[in-house]
Amino acid sequence: MGLIVQKYGGSSVADAEGLKRVANRIVATKKAGHQVVVVVSAMGDTTDELIDLANQVTPMPTGRELDMLLTAGERISMALLAMAIGNLGHEAMSFTGSQAGVITDSTHGKARIIDVAPGRIREALEGGHIAIVAGFQGVSQDTNDVTTLGRGGSDTTAVALAAALDADVCEIYTDVDGVYSADPRVVPSARKLTTVTYEEMLELAASGAKVLHLRCVEYARRYNLPIHVRSSFSNLEGTWIVNDHPEGAEDMEQAIISGIAHDKSEAKITIVGVPDRTGVAARIFQSIADSDINIDMIVQNVSAAATGLTDISFTLPKSDGAEATALLKDIQGEIGFASLLYDDQVGKLSLVGAGMRSHPGVTATFFACLADAGLNIEMISTSEIRISVIVRDTDLEKGVKAAHTAFELDTTNEAVVYGGTGR
Ligand code: ASP
Ligand code: MG
Repeated sequence: MGLIVQKYGGSSVADAEGLKRVANRIVATKKAGHQVVVVVSAMGDTTDELIDLANQVTPMPTGRELDMLLTAGERISMALLAMAIGNLGHEAMSFTGSQAGVITDSTHGKARIIDVAPGRIREALEGGHIAIVAGFQGVSQDTNDVTTLGRGGSDTTAVALAAALDADVCEIYTDVDGVYSADPRVVPSARKLTTVTYEEMLELAASGAKVLHLRCVEYARRYNLPIHVRSSFSNLEGTWIVNDHPEGAEDMEQAIISGIAHDKSEAKITIVGVPDRTGVAARIFQSIADSDINIDMIVQNVSAAATGLTDISFTLPKSDGAEATALLKDIQGEIGFASLLYDDQVGKLSLVGAGMRSHPGVTATFFACLADAGLNIEMISTSEIRISVIVRDTDLEKGVKAAHTAFELDTTNEAVVYGGTGR
């Protein structure tokens, strides 16, 4: 008997059948004697469809209105899910993010949770209800406007609520059986991981693995809250995200590399002919930071002796590309760089594994397998437990497969993808 927070993703509630299937699972958990809080995403590809619709009426929707629009998706699924549970003879009540006490800052489209005050959720639980909460949304403390937490943010809603309610576990239900050594849509022979540490999962999520939202993992680590990633389509044990691999776990032996992530959502900007002077890089990145744009990899060459000029390249989300380019053009005269190159045909390929720390040669094996596959490496960045490279986007999947094989991660049983378009 405990308090369980369950999160169901869009592919698990893609249609009425899906909603009913999920309602049955929720009721089964309740019948087992637990208090249940459910966080739900918008049905299927609803969020993408709403974004497409917004783009058809204007090329530049404002953040406030876009958030208002997108949060409607989760309102639909939460109310329908509550009805489906009601139909099974159990009482459920749905709540928007704001009603559930998810308080955020006012950065539309990528708001950060400042506080969770789930008074109404507690009341609903005490009244014997199942509480259903709309994922990925909150309300700004300053403006009282509705905000969203960024794509995939329902995971973060779930973990934040679980932490605030002191839940025993946060279960993230998705359309695959857990966290795999690579995206099973790309590598069908990928292996399901039994455990992944918070640290590894942070690197994987930051590197484009979409199975969990980055901030949800940060939250879980801060509160030491175990996450169980599993499928809503099967009853198999999934993957546990925890502090440490259990002693003697098979993952311990195998894992120099736990997982391979890939990401096509970034673009590369190269600033050509930058004067090699103190303060120039600071000026460039300050102007980008002031607009709340997150940059990822940065490469700067030594300046050519003859000219005193250098090139700086960095990657950032494609969705911020236009704004960043405009910001840089504004300071071109002041800094005196020659030109800007914008390239959105890049892909990022990352190897992650705690075992990297104690195993030399990982980089050599990685680069050799990419070379054998005919891939050219354009940028490199590393952390203690990650190596990432930028390659052509058209080469990305080939690279993932090559690395998966080179690190002997392939299994013979094919991973099951139960639903979703992977969109
Ligand atoms: N519906 C939102 C999205 O598609 C949030 C989520 O699914 O987590 O990004
Ligand atoms: Mg997701």
